[in-house]
Amino acid sequence: MDDPDTIAHSVRTALRSRVGDLPPAPAAAVKLLRLTSDDNTGVADISRVIETEPALAAKVLRIVNSPFYGFPRGIRSIPRAVTLLGLSAVRQAALNVLFYDDLVRGSDKGTFNRVYFWQHSLLVAILSRSIAQRLGHPDADSLYAAGLLHDLGKVILESHGRVRYSDFLAASIHSGNPSREDERIFFGVSHDTVGAVICASWELPELVCRVQSLHHRSFSDAGLTPQQAQEVAIVALADFIAWTQGIGSVKTLSSPCLSPEVLALLTPEQLDLADLLARADTEITEIGAFYGLQFPSSMQLRANMVITAISLSQSDGVAQPVATGPRTSYTAPHHSLDPDEFIPRTLEALRQEFGIGRLLMMQIESRRRCLVATHLLPKPVNPAPDAPLELTISALSGDLVRCLREHRPVVIRETESNQHATILARLGVTEAAAVPVMNRGRLMGLLWLSSEDASVPLNIGPLPEVLLVAGELGIALERSRAFAQERAKAEIDALTRLHNRGAVDRVLNQTFRQAADSGRRFAVGLLDIDRFKRFNDTFGHQAGDDVLRIVADTLRSLIRPGDFLGRYGGEEFLFVLVDTGEQGALSYAERVRQEIERRGRLLSDRFPGHALTASIGVALSERHHLDPGEIVAAADAALYRAKETGRNRVAAAWA
Ligand code: GH3
Ligand code: MG
Ligand code: MG
Repeated sequence: MDDPDTIAHSVRTALRSRVGDLPPAPAAAVKLLRLTSDDNTGVADISRVIETEPALAAKVLRIVNSPFYGFPRGIRSIPRAVTLLGLSAVRQAALNVLFYDDLVRGSDKGTFNRVYFWQHSLLVAILSRSIAQRLGHPDADSLYAAGLLHDLGKVILESHGRVRYSDFLAASIHSGNPSREDERIFFGVSHDTVGAVICASWELPELVCRVQSLHHRSFSDAGLTPQQAQEVAIVALADFIAWTQGIGSVKTLSSPCLSPEVLALLTPEQLDLADLLARADTEITEIGAFYGLQFPSSMQLRANMVITAISLSQSDGVAQPVATGPRTSYTAPHHSLDPDEFIPRTLEALRQEFGIGRLLMMQIESRRRCLVATHLLPKPVNPAPDAPLELTISALSGDLVRCLREHRPVVIRETESNQHATILARLGVTEAAAVPVMNRGRLMGLLWLSSEDASVPLNIGPLPEVLLVAGELGIALERSRAFAQERAKAEIDALTRLHNRGAVDRVLNQTFRQAADSGRRFAVGLLDIDRFKRFNDTFGHQAGDDVLRIVADTLRSLIRPGDFLGRYGGEEFLFVLVDTGEQGALSYAERVRQEIERRGRLLSDRFPGHALTASIGVALSERHHLDPGEIVAAADAALYRAKETGRNRVAAAWA
């Protein structure tokens, strides 16, 4: 995803406002950031910037007069404050204040806790600067800024995303540590890319932008100078250390991955971690007191935690397969939540690394208590019959039962039973090994290994390694199931049981992207109940809620498979019809309108004098639309016309 147009497009579709319309970076902060990289900055320059921002000036004075510094009380001049505190301290305090006020302060509506996020950013800033100082970096202050802003993309998505970052967190709450790839699936783009685009549009210093875009990814091929690479590594390590201290940017179950490139440039032994953390703690306690925040303590324990966590991250928490080769993970469970992506990739990796002829993956279907074949690699020359290949668990016998009960691989031969025979036939061999795919003692699937054809004997050498990989696969499958379930839960509107606004936006974005790729058209309809307020006013809010449920049920009863329906807000509903042209969209909308009118007549006793009807606006996707918001706007304009021209009717955007 390196093409700038693609990046710009995905950032645009992830945000409610255009990048240019986002609140500008605090002007004083940008100036201070630029000054930071300049050696000749003097007291006068910095004072001038601070004095242009009265709120900031007040805060700098409050800091310099706080008992912590023990200066004589009553300092009233900014140049004097700057002289006493030192340039670097003033710059940092000013940056903290500016970003805290503009980006962090605000209500916490969802799972995204801004104060918690702020603690994380501060700690990363402080650690980045200290590490830079220890390594003799010429401009350690810049690393403070880079650290402070490294997760800017998250806070931007939270306050300006079409879907908020909290919605993403709520959807991934049980899937461990949500990864960048999860973000990409959810928002269409990950937080580091959003942050980098925003930093560039705010014209922040290059160092800050570079760290934004690289702090979570492999950067060995990014063409960086040794110093630039060190800068990225410093912030990545500081980020990791902060997580190990229980101060991540969001509350999740596990730490982020630390890439080997970071550790190739920096080793924890170089850094005297106990001292580093002790200093960070003192500093952050002071800042915390200023903002009324609390931070944990206990130094050596924390230093130990960092070292343990680093070694864990290197082994990925799972014993490494013995014959590792170039791969660090066979399932890459952190990179995809889609089984149709990670299963074939894992099978292919196993084939290449261990020279396995053919692999068949079966997944458990818990409700039916059976295993269903889902992926076969490579595809056999004679395509298999269409009948799904399944094993009913209660009907299993012999070695296969032992395999599932004792969680270990077994080799199955042709002579044994009927059920096995179908599998062997499908694999085109007379013997195959079955490896259970488990997660925390629960059976998730069964992996079959065979040679590519019956003339080659089965090689059972790599079975121990395959068992380990099957463990990774089990974790990945569990994560993807949990993610799908949680997302489904988080996307349902409690009143109508339809998809909620978050889901509507996600589906619109997804449909838009797919249509752009395939060139197929889709229609969007917006339905608004006519004079709905009167139902509330005359019969009470409860009755109003019932009307909403009735309309939702009506829509649900008419929706076609493959189409999408959601509650857009209040008494507005939105439907998406795929592969639909003008005539199709109009006739569908007209059917919906008539059915609501008909149900309304059935309810006339309950709501005397108040006919239940709705107005609908429909629009079609067009080539010139830049984002799904434009199609919705067109449908909305049509809806407005339907209302204007008498209600209880359908209007088309193209008419
Ligand atoms: P119009 O025909 O122009 O659409 O008139 P209207 O009365 O339907 O539209 P208006 O936007 O004036 O009123 C919508 C009302 O819907 C206002 C709001 O109180 C009510 N409403 C929004 N959400 C809910 C809800 O969840 N339950 C109930 N009972 N009322 C809701
Ligand atoms: Mg309305
Ligand atoms: Mg209405």
